[in-house]
Amino acid sequence: MKLIVTAVLGVLALSCGCTNQVVHDPSTTQAAAPINRTCPILREKVDPNITVKYKGQIVGFCCSECVDDWARMGDDLKDERLRNSM
Ligand SMILES: [Zn+2]
Repeated sequence: MKLIVTAVLGVLALSCGCTNQVVHDPSTTQAAAPINRTCPILREKVDPNITVKYKGQIVGFCCSECVDDWARMGDDLKDERLRNSM
């Protein structure tokens, strides 16, 4: 997994915030399933326990590093990535 993360991040020219810890709110993770099937960052299978609310929707990610990258992206890019990960 780490190799894949490094390789894809290199291609995307995105930095990886690997040392950042993502705190999950249990009340949001069990409420609804993510609207997307694949991670909008790495296109990996979504982990239903790793989600972020975006524009009232639950967006799923494959790992916490992708959540960090997502947080740094602009809304235009987020919308485009999300459309491609349904
Ligand atoms: Zn990931």
